[in-house]
Amino acid sequence: MTRQTRREFLKAFGTVAGLSVLSGGVGRGQASGAKGRPNILFIMTDDHASHAMSCYGSKINKTPNLDRIATEGMRFTNSFCTNSICAPCRAVILTGKYSHLNGLIDNAVKFDGSQQTFPKLLRQAGYETAIIGKWHLKSDPTGFDYWNILPGQGVYYNPATIEMGVQKQHTGYVTDVLTDNALDWLKGRKDGKPFCLMFHHKAPHREWEPGPKYLTLYDDVEIPEPATLFDDYTGRGRAAKEQDMSIEKTMTKRDLKLVTPGKLTSEQQAKWDAAYGPKNKAFEEANLQGKDLVRWKYQRYIKDYLRCIASVDESVGRVLDYLDTSGLAENTVVIYTSDQGFYLGDHGWFDKRFMYEESLRMPLVVRYPKEIRAGSVNDDIVLNLDFGETFLDCAGVSVPADMQGRSLRPLLQGRTPSDWRTSMYYHYYEYPAVHSVKRHYGVRTQRYKLIRFYNDIDEWELYDLQSDPDEMQNVYNDPRYAEVVKELTVELKRLRAQYNDTTGAPV
Ligand code: CA
Repeated sequence: MTRQTRREFLKAFGTVAGLSVLSGGVGRGQASGAKGRPNILFIMTDDHASHAMSCYGSKINKTPNLDRIATEGMRFTNSFCTNSICAPCRAVILTGKYSHLNGLIDNAVKFDGSQQTFPKLLRQAGYETAIIGKWHLKSDPTGFDYWNILPGQGVYYNPATIEMGVQKQHTGYVTDVLTDNALDWLKGRKDGKPFCLMFHHKAPHREWEPGPKYLTLYDDVEIPEPATLFDDYTGRGRAAKEQDMSIEKTMTKRDLKLVTPGKLTSEQQAKWDAAYGPKNKAFEEANLQGKDLVRWKYQRYIKDYLRCIASVDESVGRVLDYLDTSGLAENTVVIYTSDQGFYLGDHGWFDKRFMYEESLRMPLVVRYPKEIRAGSVNDDIVLNLDFGETFLDCAGVSVPADMQGRSLRPLLQGRTPSDWRTSMYYHYYEYPAVHSVKRHYGVRTQRYKLIRFYNDIDEWELYDLQSDPDEMQNVYNDPRYAEVVKELTVELKRLRAQYNDTTGAPV
């Protein structure tokens, strides 16, 4: 049968089997989109705040490859997580359900892999599914044809991975190793099925250990300090004052690379000593104190954090280049996000957890040339709760009624539904625990944020993000905001009922 005859045959009698015959006659890229369904490449990092991405206006670094996704696709300016901590965010994405329903309320809980997840649904619908990189959910991955994950948090240098249950040792820097693994999997795929690859980096998670290639990047520059580096929390309550995640008090010698990390080869150790030895000597000689010491620690911290991101940016560039050269770019939805935001010295902090802006926000850029206008920007309130639903929608798989988010596909197409959400609900649980961020829940609208801290405390905070974007002044008890407090309290109650959250103190 000639190709032309085949096409005519299919036009009249198109079947799944017939389409795969056609696929055999065309290029690899088209073949991967059998039945016209797109591939899904979900790239997620750990703790990458959007204010360290140049397409979000970063004042401290450049991320040309990450920016490419935004330039060729859509950038979301109000993407938020529902519980700002690593494993719980991942569980929300997999299930499309809030933490109290998927069971993973904090990092101590093991993920119940027997429950419904979007990769399982895609796999049932004929997708080839894979997870490569950081998993961090304690139980083995389920719903994947292929998995190759870091054990637990993983390590930066010479990491081990667990491939389908078998531990393998690698030599090199974790971001590069995981990128090699992801490219190997993409290149080794059999044609015929569309794929969904979840490609999760460990970087730039604490302790922010850079790859040898970028050890000296930023050595000769001062990184600008955030305006709130010396925040004294006078405008806020006990929760902000009693946390344990400050650069001044919490950051360790290990964080600051004043002790060398383990597991280096002798060549890597030599590079490390050459890069850090003189810096450590300079520190000891300077005998810094007070604000000067905080400033020194901030530089040390942020440079390593940004060096880790430089490797991530390079990794994403390699993967995008592969999509281009393999012909997969046109029919692949590429997403870049991070599991939550992070404090880059903002409020004097590192880490996440709080519902305050820097850790609530997630970077989110999406490229899909078939449906997204290049260079578009969306300001609607979107959540990590929506990701699974979006992928199912793009794959033509119906979204189960018990998933709690909503597909972003209309937004990607530039058509926000008139009944799109105008507020979002947040709930953080991990307390008492490391970093001592108290339990809280809250609601955020485009302009306001109402937070209620509970457990060993009962305090409310309200921020007017228009007049106070850095959230320096709690106006909950300001009579001028009495009406706002009233309305948002009703909205908070409504959201808790909508999402069926009866955990924590009743409103
Ligand atoms: Ca994280």
